[in-house]
Amino acid sequence: MAGWNFRKSLRIGKVLRISLGGKSVGLSVGVKGARAGVNSSRGAYTHLSIPGTGLYNRSYLGTGTAKIRRSATFCEKCGARLPQGANFCGTCGAPVK
Ligand SMILES: [Zn+2]
Repeated sequence: MAGWNFRKSLRIGKVLRISLGGKSVGLSVGVKGARAGVNSSRGAYTHLSIPGTGLYNRSYLGTGTAKIRRSATFCEKCGARLPQGANFCGTCGAPVK
């Protein structure tokens, strides 16, 4: 009885799709045969398929490396954007970890 999975996708307009899985949330744009998106568990990807054949090619782009590069830090408490190297949040004063 184990192993129920949940997966749902919502279409918004013609090209935007949001997919909800058990462990991840994804957002993608694309048309039949070509799609690109971001997935909360795996990162950015491109997805190419040949309609009617069931053949597809999904590749994840630079898993790990791209998003580990710290471009910005946000306050855990209020969500304000913090300058690099800040020790305290300038908005709410919370210490930055
Ligand atoms: Zn703050």
